[in-house]
Amino acid sequence: MICRVCDHPRLELAVDLGVQPWANDFIRPSEAGREPTYPLRVVRCVHCGTAQLDHTVAKETMFADHTYLSGMTQTLRDHFAAVARAVDQRFFADRPAKAMLDIGSNDGTQLRSYRDLGYDILGVEPARLPAELANQAGLTTRRAFFNAATAAEIGRKFEVINASGVFFHLEELHSVTAGITASLADDGVFVIQFLYMKRIVENDAFDQIYHEHLLYYNVRTLDRLLRRHGLALFDAELSPIHGGSIIGYATHAPRAQPSERLAALGRAEDAAGANTLAWYHAFQARMVARKAENLAFLQACRAAGRTVYGLGAPVKGNTLLNYFGIGPELIACLTERNPHRRGLVAPGSHIPVKLEDELTAPPDVYYVLAWNFKAEILARHQADRARGVEFYFPVNPREV
Ligand SMILES: [Zn+2]
Repeated sequence: MICRVCDHPRLELAVDLGVQPWANDFIRPSEAGREPTYPLRVVRCVHCGTAQLDHTVAKETMFADHTYLSGMTQTLRDHFAAVARAVDQRFFADRPAKAMLDIGSNDGTQLRSYRDLGYDILGVEPARLPAELANQAGLTTRRAFFNAATAAEIGRKFEVINASGVFFHLEELHSVTAGITASLADDGVFVIQFLYMKRIVENDAFDQIYHEHLLYYNVRTLDRLLRRHGLALFDAELSPIHGGSIIGYATHAPRAQPSERLAALGRAEDAAGANTLAWYHAFQARMVARKAENLAFLQACRAAGRTVYGLGAPVKGNTLLNYFGIGPELIACLTERNPHRRGLVAPGSHIPVKLEDELTAPPDVYYVLAWNFKAEILARHQADRARGVEFYFPVNPREV
């Protein structure tokens, strides 16, 4: 393959998570063992430093029936609304007529915030269910993959273009970015929110690596991609969303005056070596150590006859379970609230999902797959903890 960002032909193996099924695809028990698997490896471009998967699962396989709804969590709703208010205040507060385009607009959560601020809104979302929900709520959404051709069909310019949590999914990276350049008003602002790879590595959050995430950006590497298409970052800030994200602000390159905090983020990446191969190899070595630690704990539980349930069944939990090689013999079930997953098993590990109403008693140990919500989980489960249930965190993040 060639680099997804700069076309350079030399890519080095940075992180190897083995062969894994597509993580979001919870399956029926009768399908267990027949789910297709794909290599899950991060490679690093020797030229531009961008971390990326070397294997692409077709986007039609991954996104057509996506069940993730961004509007479902209050934290995300509040975050999106705050970003919209800040962007409007800072750049377009006294503009009488303004338009906003949201790429990968999901159920319209972000569109709604901008509509309430007086923007003419348009969402582009390939997944059927969220696009329908958005349109039913009056949040105009075109069901499509956004790319240069979609941008040409839309044929308008927007003061604000937003892409939250989608830039690492993009298979048609250059077509999408060219479409953004074409759709951005001359003084428009492209707001791009993405998981921060530097923070993923610092937190040992290797379970953020899965097939939907084709690209893993730092500020330095994202800017290289944007510049290839005539855009450039002029500001960026850290945000706690998803355990460590960046909110980047870009515009047409000739207008971009880098802020001091953007420059500081770039310098911090250089000082940490965050775009080097050695940085990723140290990350992999820590994952190998965690795997040994986790398996030793679970095997000791089994030997002592203690029951272990997984707490939550997030998509990223499947990367973790499959990389560690954990199956139903070590974790009896994954407890979950999403009713769409009733009766299913996790891909690869084949651990059954149980809804809370299917459980009669708590286990001896909860193995917390949503480990990045440690404080909230411990607070919510006070009663279980008082009864002696142990909460085991497979990864202990450094404080953000
Ligand atoms: Zn490259």
